[in-house]
Parts: sequence; C-alpha cells; structure tokens
Amino acid sequence: MEQISHFIGGLRTSGHGQRRAPVFNPALGEPCAEVVLADGSDIQAVVQAAKAAQPAWGDTPPLRRARVMFRFKELLEQHQHELAAIISREHGKVPGDALGEVTRGLEVVEFACGIPHLIKGEFSEQVGGGVDSYSMRQPLGVVAGITPFNFPAMVPLWMLPVALACGNAFVLKPSERDPSASLMLAELLQKAGLPDGVFNVLQGDREAVDGLLEHPDVAAVSFVGSTPVARHIYATGTAQGKRVQALGGAKNHLVVMPDADLDQAVDALMGAAYGSAGERCMAISVAVAVGDVADALVERLAARTRALRVGPGTDPAAEMGPLVTRAHLDKVRGYVDAGVAEGAKLVVDGRALQVPAHEAGFFLGGCLFDHVTPDMSLWREEIFGPVLAVVRVPDFDAAVKLIDSHAYGNGVALFTRDGDCAREFVRRVQIGMVGVNVPIPVPMAFHSFGGWKQSMFGDHAMHGMEGVRFYTRLKTVTSRWPTGIRAGAEFVMPTLK
Ligand code: NAD
Repeated sequence: MEQISHFIGGLRTSGHGQRRAPVFNPALGEPCAEVVLADGSDIQAVVQAAKAAQPAWGDTPPLRRARVMFRFKELLEQHQHELAAIISREHGKVPGDALGEVTRGLEVVEFACGIPHLIKGEFSEQVGGGVDSYSMRQPLGVVAGITPFNFPAMVPLWMLPVALACGNAFVLKPSERDPSASLMLAELLQKAGLPDGVFNVLQGDREAVDGLLEHPDVAAVSFVGSTPVARHIYATGTAQGKRVQALGGAKNHLVVMPDADLDQAVDALMGAAYGSAGERCMAISVAVAVGDVADALVERLAARTRALRVGPGTDPAAEMGPLVTRAHLDKVRGYVDAGVAEGAKLVVDGRALQVPAHEAGFFLGGCLFDHVTPDMSLWREEIFGPVLAVVRVPDFDAAVKLIDSHAYGNGVALFTRDGDCAREFVRRVQIGMVGVNVPIPVPMAFHSFGGWKQSMFGDHAMHGMEGVRFYTRLKTVTSRWPTGIRAGAEFVMPTLK
C-alpha cells in the first residue's frame, strides 16, 4: 500500500516514528494509502531543518522571495487538475469543488507575490532636530501551520504563501485524513526554487501537534480546525510565549427576508448547505425564514434536496460526494436521529441513500429539517454534514437575536432586496464574515478570513494584511547622525521642545 511520508529538508522521509494511520478513499469506503505519524525525534528533525534554513531565507531580498512565489503560482496552475484529483480521492469532494479550493488557495499565492510592497515600512523624517524614525517588519523565524481535513490545499495556502514571503521557515502539519496534497505543495515549492528546509511537512496526529506547540524554536502557530482543538492550541501555544491564531468551528445562518428573491435564495441555500457534503466551515447549516416566507421556502428546498445528485468524484454529474470517514458519517447520522427525537420535522431524510457500486462508501443523502428551535442540538451544534435546519422567526429583530445568541460567529448571510435592512444587518450582527445576497462570504485573498466568538481565538485573521502582520514583528528605529555636537548626558525623558 502507498505510504505517505514527511517532507523534511527537501526530502521525502518516513522518519523514525513507528505508528501509521490508514487514509481512506471515502467514496469506496476502503483504505487507499497509509500515512506515517511523527514521533518526538521527527518533530526535532523538522524544526531543526527549518531553523537551519530560515536565516538565509529571511535575509533574501523580498523581491527574490516574491519571484519564488511567482514561479510557485505558475506551477500550481499547471498542476491544478492533478492536485484536485488528489484532494477528491482522499477527501471525497467532487473534482470541480476541489478545483475551486485550489483556485482560492492560488489567490493567496498571487497576493504574496506583492510582498515587496506589502512588507514596506513607514518613515518619518525629522521627528526631532536631525532625528528620523522608521519602522520595519521582520520575520518571526520558524512558524507552524496545523490544518483540517476539509480543505487540504486551500487552508495550508491561506498560511504558507504569506509566511514564506515574509521570510519565515514553515512546518505544515496537515490533517492525517487527507495528507497527500501537502506533499504536492512541498514539491512544487521546491521546483519553484524555494531552498530546502524553508518549507517542510510533518505528518502526524495530536503527538505531532503537541510537540510543535511545546517546541521552543517554533515562534508562531496558525491553526484551523474544530473549536475544542483551537482552544487547546491557543491556550497551550500562548502559555509557551508563542504568537497564535486559531480558527475554530462554525454554525452559519442564512436569513431569508419576505422580500427576497426566493429562487435566488433557494439556489444559494442548496449550494451552501450541501456543497462539499456540508463539510465547509462557511457552509450554511441554518436557514432563518422570516415572517411568512417559510412554507414556500421549505417546499422548494424539499424538491431540490430530493433531486440532489450524490455520488463519487468519478461521476461527472455528482453534485455532492461522501463524508470523510465512517466515524464522521455515524456522527452526522446521530445528529439526524437526535433531531427527529427532539421533535424537529424531518422533511427530507437522506439516511437511506445507496450509491450504486459504492455501497461501502461514506455517503449520506441531503437531509432537510423544518421547525427547528434553539433548544435542539440540530441548532446548537456544528454538524459538518449535509443537514440543513430551517428555523422560523417572526421578524428581522428575532433573526438577528437568534444569530447573535449562537456560540459561533464565523459567517452569516442575508437575502433581501431592501438596502436599508441589509445595511442595518451588516452593522449589527455579531459575526466576522457577512454576505449580502452572497451565501458563502469567504473574503478574497487581499482581505482577511476570520470569525468571531468561538470561531476564532487570537486577534489576527488569515491572509491579507492581517496575515502579513501575524507573520512579522514590528521594529521601530529612531536615528540621528550628529556631527561633532556634544550636549552631554540627558536624564529626563526626551521630548520635542
Ligand atoms: P480537527 O480539529 O479534528 O483537526 C484539525 C487539526 O488538528 C488536524 O491537523 C488534526 O490532526 C489536529 N488535531 C485533532 N485533534 C487534536 C488534538 N486533540 N490535539 C491536537 N491536535 C489535534 O478538525 P477537522 O475535523 O480536521 O476539521 C473540521 C473542523 O475544522 C470543523 O469544526 C470546521 O468548522 C473547522 N474549520 C474551520 C475553518 C475556519 O476557518 N474557521 C476552516 C476549515 C475548517
């Protein structure tokens, strides 16, 4: 069986760790490879390789670092279909969707190509007589990225282009469920001319993560994953004096106002709820039906959900693939069972779905619930599967109140034709990323991605200028070149007279 290895100091290596984990093809429900899991000596080796390579890379002029990013961008474009196929095989999402995630990742590489401009400091001439002051941004050193299974290329690409362009060395610890995409990224970076050791991949599980968190030579940690793990990463990393950004789980609502274009809202809900089998941190899992819109909305959603084409990535007509593992499938089914037991109305039940020739695959058909209320686990918890819950509320204020009372604050959307209502919503809602007639408001690479409340710990979002700030330290210099004037020692705080 194929073995998926680490990538340390420019080489693929199995390392010293003896543990292995199976990697599944979720459409077939069977293992397609095994991944090595790092032990303590692998963690030492990877941080050592990164630490040795970083000073020369940090000294490389930003323009040259940008040229590596330009070549990386070209190579990613050339290999995007191959990368999408790797993602589809191990994750299960359909190839078109996998290609979309590669494109969104590529956009961060394009952003990082502008690093000479982005990293420019500020200069103030003559802050005092003969005194100038300027600031610059310098790399942190060795930084680590820990990423989830649901975007095996895009989420690493939220981090690594900016971190590398800023002059850091990077250790990526990808999800052990779909680890192959990370190796392709490593090899394309090497081909692009990135010096060995500047980008490394450490395969592993909790042991690898905790080893990186404890390592004194890791200056910063970027994390994307579930909220309990994000909280652990933030608490442990910051207690070790590291800079940490930790993005967690989500429960995203889409509000349908009575004046919304219902066809547009239904299209938006279908793609945002069931695309990637609901395994997106920006997936919409709650439709908030305002006023009298609910009956018509549920009727249309039900017809479309029943017609969803579910199948493997090899089926070009498939709109939605399987869930990532058997354990995750069981968990999502458990939420559907609980929703029925708690009294929500299951309008479309996807539990009986069978995909021909893929009976062992981890498939679940689209599920649609109506009359969901805030006391139900269906509303409170992140399900991360193809399950859409409709909550009925009387008016706009009740919709905002419902959303703001949720523990998560990642994304939200409002569908309306009323600009005043939309403006008020944007201003008031306690959520980090807001869409107006846009169902999945994922910010572009030159803006920044991050939620509020339990969806993010730390104060820098990913990519955009937030990313540049996260991956650099600010240094401010005050300088004077006096010629022969000797005023003697000054014992009071210097001020401008
Ligand atoms: P996860 O938290 O289980 O795993 C994420 C990473 O942490 C993986 O690399 C994993 O190996 C590691 N990990 C898992 N358990 C750990 C532990 N106990 N200690 C240390 N490390 C551990 O998440 P997942 O299931 O891979 O991904 C799905 C989750 O990620 C969902 O909750 C989703 O909302 C979230 N997510 C959030 C965003 C965002 O931007 N906010 C984006 C994508 C995914």
